[in-house]
Amino acid sequence: MLKENLENVRKNIKKSCEIAGRDEKEVTLIAVSKTKPLSDIEELMTYGETEFGENKVQELCDKYENISKPVNWHLIGHLQTNKVKYIVDKACLIHSVDSVHLAKEIEKQAEKKKVIANILIQVNIAHEDTKFGIDENNIYEILDEIKNFKHVKVQGLMTIAPFVQNPEENREYFRKMHQLLLDIKSKNIDNIDMSILSMGMTNDYMVAIEEGATMVRVGTGIFGERNYNI
Ligand SMILES: *Cc1c(COP(=O)(O)O)cnc(C)c1O
Repeated sequence: MLKENLENVRKNIKKSCEIAGRDEKEVTLIAVSKTKPLSDIEELMTYGETEFGENKVQELCDKYENISKPVNWHLIGHLQTNKVKYIVDKACLIHSVDSVHLAKEIEKQAEKKKVIANILIQVNIAHEDTKFGIDENNIYEILDEIKNFKHVKVQGLMTIAPFVQNPEENREYFRKMHQLLLDIKSKNIDNIDMSILSMGMTNDYMVAIEEGATMVRVGTGIFGERNYNI
């Protein structure tokens, strides 16, 4: 099942790239493995999948320690400042930075561990009360501080679009995110890179790719439904 699902997602990514006239190499698939066992991850590795996403620090650390071969771990869930120290040298990319306060702690811990932490700024583009992420109107204020950090490197933006039945409803949000990324890029801010746009999940990754996503985060579409009760 995992093999077929993965092939299917890869096929859809290719299709969306064709529709958008994009090179499929521009899009990285992150297999969101939260709640799923290491055996699933290791099976996917044999099909060439190298990027895995987790939303909890503890789960990411456990899997990091126990996996048979190293992979690239993406922290995609909300990060509390007191947990930064556990993750800063384990995640290849932290997708969910939503305050200067958090970035400051990442800077501090990255310096301690002598690493550069790659981060994305999470934007709450649909202004949902239930979601983390900054308001896009505050982005320049935040970047203006983070650009001075020596051990934190902003690589782009991330968003979690609303949960909708019809993915077309999210197209306007994906478009806004892409425009925001281009606006920031055009300002050529020192130490701020805008090469990654992380958006699109199982329900809407095809629309996200059509609108410029360079990373899609797919869980259910690869692993099947999650069971939180086990
Ligand atoms: C769980 C999760 C995903 C994957 O969701 P699916 O709908 O299962 O594809 C993507 N991004 C984030 C931030 C998540 O927490």
